[in-house]
Amino acid sequence: MCKLNIHETVKGRAQILFDIHFMRFIQKLSESENTLDIFKDAFSELADQFRFGEVRVRYTKKETINNPDGVDDNISFFLDKGDIDENNVIKKEFHTAEDGIEYISLVALKDAGLWTEEEKNALDIIIDIFFFHISKTRLIKAIEQSAYKDYLTELPNSNGYFEFAKNLYERNELAKYNAFYFDLKGFGLVNVKFGKEEADIIICRYVSVLKQFIADDECLGRIAGDNFVALIRKERSEEFLKLIENVETFAYVDKKMTTVDISAVAGVLEIDEKIEDYRQLISQCSIAYDVAKYVTKRPYMYLTKEMNQKALKQKQVRSKFKQAIMNEEFVIYYQPKVETDTYSLAGAEALVRWVSDDKLISPGEFIPLIEEDGLICELDFYMLKHVCHDINMWKVQGIEPVRVSVNFSRRHLLNPDFPQKIIDTISEHGVNPKYIEIEITETADEEESDMLNIFMKEMKDHGIATAIDDFGTGVSSFNILRNSQVDVLKIDKSLIDDAVMTESDIIVISNIIKMARELDVDVITEGVERWEQVEFLHDIDCHLIQGFLFDRPMPEKEYTERLRKRTYDITKVNDVESK
Ligand code: C2E
Ligand code: CA
Ligand code: CA
Repeated sequence: MCKLNIHETVKGRAQILFDIHFMRFIQKLSESENTLDIFKDAFSELADQFRFGEVRVRYTKKETINNPDGVDDNISFFLDKGDIDENNVIKKEFHTAEDGIEYISLVALKDAGLWTEEEKNALDIIIDIFFFHISKTRLIKAIEQSAYKDYLTELPNSNGYFEFAKNLYERNELAKYNAFYFDLKGFGLVNVKFGKEEADIIICRYVSVLKQFIADDECLGRIAGDNFVALIRKERSEEFLKLIENVETFAYVDKKMTTVDISAVAGVLEIDEKIEDYRQLISQCSIAYDVAKYVTKRPYMYLTKEMNQKALKQKQVRSKFKQAIMNEEFVIYYQPKVETDTYSLAGAEALVRWVSDDKLISPGEFIPLIEEDGLICELDFYMLKHVCHDINMWKVQGIEPVRVSVNFSRRHLLNPDFPQKIIDTISEHGVNPKYIEIEITETADEEESDMLNIFMKEMKDHGIATAIDDFGTGVSSFNILRNSQVDVLKIDKSLIDDAVMTESDIIVISNIIKMARELDVDVITEGVERWEQVEFLHDIDCHLIQGFLFDRPMPEKEYTERLRKRTYDITKVNDVESK
């Protein structure tokens, strides 16, 4: 009994001692950053009790596209307790969340004797705990890196790129570089054609080609999707541009290899000594990129002062635009259309003006700035609503309105709800659709052109007239006439502009008019400034005109007077030059 007591007390002491060391082991692993020294420290707590002298950790991972050789990392630490016995090892294997395998081994000290079953169980738990801690360490490291690295290509992401730029900036070396922002032409199609997974691999293959070019003191980064950035030394910039103009990669379709050519569209900033904010590198490059992609449609553009100024203006206009719509700062000017047999008012066109800080801004100054990002669509509906409102107002005043045409940007065409939105707007205001005409410019884009035909048919079905604006300036003029449901052609000013029209000008215009008449399409010519133009148009059977000769665009109040009067006193109508 007594013996047993003593035995149990001894065992109890050992247990308590183990518990203390075990707690210290866990505490050391948990409380601070997990480094090799900490690991060593933690294991030292248990080494005496369990008689081991070395800890080994091996981490392996299969090869991936970014790591063609795979990963095989080994760490080990001796605990300075004496020689080890390679034949007495306890080893465990773990599969990690990132598809790797981790092996952890504890190597016994020489002459340590065999571990008991109880000890083995304890060591098993100790190894599990250790695995948990290294996994945590690896995870923290990955998170820290992911703040600076792109997960797919392992290139720097925008943070990593800016970090690189910051470094150069602080060393006064940034001006030795040009900055690039680029994306891959038609990469959306690559995604559709090969699927997202293969497209990701194509991106990696593409990156590995570029990486071969990038020098150690240069940087290539991936921002997202197919958007990349780079900092390349000035003397190598042209060569880089040449490289990204076409990179040949490949993809697998049904296990067969096909080549995939990838061309980039780039914006380039020539960094100068005066650069103050390296954080603007991407936004500055993307101004030039927008011009290359949407305006000049070239593989790359260098940022110019003019581009920068336009972008600045665009930003200012955009930032004021929403408020301006809410404050009703946009007003309608009406320009009459005249029937030249009777010199009477035959219709009007609604043209927008922006009253900002008591200044009248004409559409030419701001529409091109809002057309690119679709704000124009909001403005066009604003105009339609206000035209509907004015038509109702004239009705209430007992004045019979004439048909008003409202301009709509071609940007609307790709929106499938566009026709219905027009129909709804007109009907919500209780306006008879016969008072509304929709003007849209012709388009060379095939998809838009199909949508334009669908749109015009839909308008016709709802009793709303449509007009092709600026007719004769585009490339597809005659196609449009052949296929579409259009009611009116507006012949562009430029076609009748020349003081002396050539024989072929005359043939073209008179035939357009003849053809239109045969197709039951009305024709109006705009930009008429002189009587001789009226006479010419009359001779070739165009009886509808719009131009400064009769009236300039005018505010609603003045136009209301014109609506009341209805006809023109032609003795008071003079050529624009003599006004
Ligand atoms: P547009 O649709 O071709 O409109 C005709 C333009 O020619 C108007 O310029 C008008 O003032 C001008 N004009 C009319 N008669 C004459 C003339 O005899 N001589 C000359 N030199 N010009 C004449 P405005 O009002 O400055 O508008 C310019 C352009 O802005 C319009 O060209 C149209 O494309 C666009 N725009 C105006 N309002 C809107 C709108 O509400 N929505 C959209 N999307 N575009 C609009
Ligand atoms: Ca127009
Ligand atoms: Ca026009």
